[in-house]
Parts: sequence; structure tokens; C-alpha cells
Amino acid sequence: MKQLKALNKYFWKYRVRLGGGILFVFLSNYFNVLSPQITGYVIDFVQRSLSVSGYKAPQNKANYDILVVTVTEKIEHLDYNWVTIVAICGLVILVLALLRGFFLFLMRQTVIVMSRYIEYDQKNEVYKHYQQLDSSFFKTHNTGDLMNRIAEDVSRVRMFTGPAIMYLANLVAIISLSVFFMLKRDAELTLYVLAPLPILAITIYYVNNTINRKSEKIQESLSDLTTNAQESYSGIRVIKSFVQEKAMLGFFAKNSEEYRKNAIGLARVEAVYFPSITLLIGLSTLFTIMIGGLHHIANPDTTSLATIVEFVMYVNMLTFPVSAIGLTASMIQRAAASQKRINEFLDTPSSIKEPAVPVEKILQGNISFKNVDFVYGHTGIMALKNFNLEIKRGEKVAIVGRTGSGKSTVAQLLLRMYDTTKGTIELDGTDIKQLNLKATREQISYVPQDVFLFSDTVANNISFGLEKTVIADVERAARQANVDKEIAGFSEQYQTMIGERGVTLSGGQKQRISIARALIKEPNLVIFDDCLSAVDARTEKQIIGNLNEYLQDKTAIIITHRIFSLFDFDKIVVLEDGEIVEQGTHQELVARKGYYAGLYDRQQEQERETE
Ligand code: ADP
Ligand code: MG
Repeated sequence: MKQLKALNKYFWKYRVRLGGGILFVFLSNYFNVLSPQITGYVIDFVQRSLSVSGYKAPQNKANYDILVVTVTEKIEHLDYNWVTIVAICGLVILVLALLRGFFLFLMRQTVIVMSRYIEYDQKNEVYKHYQQLDSSFFKTHNTGDLMNRIAEDVSRVRMFTGPAIMYLANLVAIISLSVFFMLKRDAELTLYVLAPLPILAITIYYVNNTINRKSEKIQESLSDLTTNAQESYSGIRVIKSFVQEKAMLGFFAKNSEEYRKNAIGLARVEAVYFPSITLLIGLSTLFTIMIGGLHHIANPDTTSLATIVEFVMYVNMLTFPVSAIGLTASMIQRAAASQKRINEFLDTPSSIKEPAVPVEKILQGNISFKNVDFVYGHTGIMALKNFNLEIKRGEKVAIVGRTGSGKSTVAQLLLRMYDTTKGTIELDGTDIKQLNLKATREQISYVPQDVFLFSDTVANNISFGLEKTVIADVERAARQANVDKEIAGFSEQYQTMIGERGVTLSGGQKQRISIARALIKEPNLVIFDDCLSAVDARTEKQIIGNLNEYLQDKTAIIITHRIFSLFDFDKIVVLEDGEIVEQGTHQELVARKGYYAGLYDRQQEQERETE
């Protein structure tokens, strides 16, 4: 339960709504408990006016609420005949019901609206926190889990901040008000009549927990089912080409069967649940009439007919809120469990820390790696070993090496997606850990190895991260990345949607749009991570030609598994198992006849073959 303390800041933020909501709950219940009193008064009044045989004026006072006493005295003083007075009392009950309804409306308007505000704030809080977390967090938690906490768990917490709080306030209000008036009316009868209610509450609590357990199971099997269906649609080509339709159907049918079984199980419990609640509620009314009747027979002076009617009405008012105790309790339990999961993430700090006094400066593009070791924490893989590299402003450096040799890791460290395990990285002579993180990343243009495009227009994908989209710049970047002609062929050119609801792009097109996204920015530092792997040799040449011009006064690190002989690199670094094994210019490395020379020879041969 202490998990829910995390919500206190929100309750404080929305204290006016919360306070108002609780006040309205009490007001609506106050008008609610007045109607049995008016009814009781009318019953007594009619018996009195008609001098019903056997009627004796009760000895004990009815102890009605002051409002009821005033109103009924006023009505009686009007000296109308009894039928009119009964009709006026009927109108009063109607007015009470309207008042009650009005305050119920206000209650929902405050409490439920508050819960929606809290839900909104909490979603943003979680989302914002996710964005601050470091890359290793996202490597160790799956996307489904992240999605669940921001969607499912937050809405379960809302069930607490909204409905559960409303039910609780309502329960406290109706119990205190009705029991107060019942005790004033007939203390002994009150105790007898209320005795069965706790049984009702406890029974419902247990049944409700069973229902929740079963619905959770249903939820799980439903999510299995959807994942399964989704995968078979997105992998439909693989399924068809391996002729696995039948096997997939069998798999789906099994999931479906599981879901059906669970759902039928729940339906069975619910089928018993609702009739038994109705039965229990009905029984408590009957019980009230029986006990009241016995009291009346034994002692007609203290327990009048009016008392019995009033008590039946009170008990009816109490049964719903009391039966909601079980519901409320399990809502709170689930909210606490969900809040616990949310807190778990919110309490995870990012391992990438902003310095206390961040240095902010325009980066010129001098880079220096000093004795850098890097180990991926969760796998223990040592990706870089004693890595040293000096890059001067304006230099173009290539990093070459086999897959897994640590090339991308160099880029990740420069963007400070991770901190080095040992050694330092300096940008223009300042330790990267001392620099303002956001400003640093903003000043680096980066094309990641695995392209990611948003389901948005081509133009917005290219200008992603810029404050506004200038279409001329977008077009220029697309031209430099050699995708402008293809974009011109799309149905709506730069306004064409990418992704499920738009065009499907080839790997090469995606890469080039991703390059255009980097080229539209004008920073001093550029990192391209193997960004031409899906582009054919001729397009590659054209892009490199454009890059020569774009990169003129910039510092560039180009990671590649192919050698760009057209590009004049100041330095080429060959990585193997996280270590630099060769270093130098193209000529030097070719002369050295090592890994680079071998790679170059193979590539030359391939090119000759394809020509
Ligand atoms: P390259 O870009 O040269 O192919 P990487 O820098 O991606 O190489 O990887 C270097 C080593 O680190 C590899 O052994 C790889 O398996 C490992 N590695 C890369 N990224 C991660 C990661 N996020 N978590 C754990 N290990 C990783
Ligand atoms: Mg890589």
C-alpha cells in the first residue's frame, strides 16, 4: 500500500478537486438519507390523520434531521387536507432526489476528472523518464513491458485515483450518515439489521478476487493470441514460402482454445456472482422486515411501522456501497501492484549523469579517445580495449573492421549513449562527461547503423529534430543523399507517408532518407555508421561524391565495412576485437599488406567482376 504514496504529490496538486469531490459525496448522501425520514413521517402522518385502528402515537421521538423537522412542520401548518400534504411530501422527496443527483454529477465531475488529470500527468512522467534512461536500460527491458507500464499500469492506478476513491468516500459518507440516523431512531434494531452486512462485504470481496484472477488470465491469453496473429501477418511471406499455413493455424487454434476456456470459466463465475449478490441484498431487506416486524409485535410503542419502512430504505441504500467494498479493495490492491511496477522504473536512475556544472560550448570537432576500455554491462562483452584515437578538427577518419569488432561502439561512446568503463573521451579538450549532454548530442550529426524511420511524412522524417521544416533544405538534403528522384516518384512526393499506412521503402531508400536526415543539419561533427550497406555501388559513388563537398570543413567519422577508394581519408583505422590493429592512410595500409590490403584486393576483384 505504501507504493501508492507516490501519488500524494498528485493529490496535493489537485487538492481543490479532491476536496470538492469529497464534499459533494457527503452532500449527495446527505440528501439521500433524508428521503426515508420524509417517507417515515408521511406513514406516521397518514396513520395519524386517518386514525387507523391500532395506531398509537409513538412514545419516542423520531429524531429526524433538523431540515426534515422544519420542512414537515411548515407543511403541516399549511392546514391542507391529508391528501395534499402527502402529495407535497412526495414533491419534497423528488426535490431531494434531484439535489442528490446534482451533487452526484458534481462528484463525478471532480473526482473522475481529477483521476483523468492524474493519469495524464503520470503517463507524461513515465514517458519523460523513459526518455532520460540510458541505452542499456532499453537493452535489458523489452518494449512490451515498457508499453504495459505506461498504458495498462497507469490505467489501473487511475482506477484507484478515480472510482476507488469515489466509492470509499461514498461508503464512509453513507455509512456514517445512515447509521447515525438509524441509531438515533432505534439503536437496538440498528444492530440487528446491520449484522449481516459484513458477511455480504466479505463474500463479495472473495468472489471478486476470483473474478480478477480469471480476467487476468484471460488478458494474458488474449495478448498471446494477438501477438501470435500479429506475427503471422507481418511474417506472412515467410509462412507462405515455407508452406507453414497449417502449422500456424494449429498454433493459433491452440491459443484460441486457451482463451475460450478461460473466458468460459469467467462467465461461469460471473453467472453465479450477480444472482447471489441480488439474493444477499434481497435477504437483507427481508431480514430487516422480519426483525422489525418482530420488534413491532413485541413492542409497538418503540418500533413503529414507520421505523420499519425507514430501516428498509436505509438498508437498501447501504447494500450497494457495502457490496462495493470488495470491488474497491481489489481495485486498490491492483493499483498498488501497478504503482509498484511504475515506481520500479521511475526509481531507476539513468547511468548517464549530467555534470553538476555542465560546460556548454560550440564543438569544433577535435576528438580524442584516451586508453578507452568499454564493457557492455549486462553481457560482459568487452567491446573496446585500450582504444586510443586522436582526430583533429576537419579530419576525415574511416573505421574499418569485421562485424563485431567494436566499430559501432565507438560511435555510441561519442554520443555518450554509454560511459566508458575506463579511460576518457575528450571533445575539444573537455571530458565528454563534463559537457552538457543535450547540447553535445545536438551538435553531432549521426546516421545509425540500423535505420529507424517514423510513421510520418518523408519531409518530417528528414527534418526530424529541427525546429521547423524548410522544404528547400529538405529537398537539398534528399538530393545530396541521392534519394530525391525516388521521392519525386512517390504519390505525394515529400508529403508521402512512410510505414504501414504509406509507402514501403527498400532498405537502400531507408538508408538514404536516414542520411538525408543527418545531412540537413550543419554541425561540425558527423558520424556515419555503415550507412551505405544497402546501397548499390553506383549510388554509393554518387553519394560519396556529394559527401566530399558536404564534409569539407567538418570532422567526420565514417564507419564502414567497404572501402571508399574515392574518398580521401586523413586516417583509416582498422579494428579487430576492440583493438586497433592497423592505422594510416590508404596508401600506407595497402603497402602494409595486412587486413586492410586484403579487404581492398577482394573489393577490387568484385568490382571488376560486376563490371
Ligand atoms: P561492429 O559495429 O563493429 O559490428 P559493435 O560495436 O556493434 O561492432 O559490437 C562490438 C561487440 O560488442 C560485439 O561483440 C557485440 O556483440 C557487442 N555488442 C554490441 N552492442 C551491444 C549491446 N548493446 N549490448 C551488449 N553487447 C553488445
Ligand atoms: Mg556496427
